[in-house]
Amino acid sequence: MSTSPGRPGPDPHLALVRPVLPRSDGCEECLKLGTPWVHLRLCLTCGKVGCCDSSPMRHARAHAGSSGHVIVRSLEPGESWRWCYAHDQYV
Ligand SMILES: [Zn+2]
Ligand SMILES: [Zn+2]
Ligand SMILES: [Zn+2]
Repeated sequence: MSTSPGRPGPDPHLALVRPVLPRSDGCEECLKLGTPWVHLRLCLTCGKVGCCDSSPMRHARAHAGSSGHVIVRSLEPGESWRWCYAHDQYV
């Protein structure tokens, strides 16, 4: 696996992206646990909603680590950027 920081080019993980819809209105795990979140991220492979790295539980990153679904999109109003958790970069 090659990581070349700063080098432009399509992220190979974009192959994981599927046409998904959010499966819940909030972080699925936080809704179950009753824990708060700061911002929401949408898994672009399966549609799971998780919380961001500023949230106490960081469920979006946990989902990426356990499932291999490393590409997420911001679910915040007006934001449409995507993030790769494997490369820790915008894609
Ligand atoms: Zn990547
Ligand atoms: Zn969460
Ligand atoms: Zn997923």
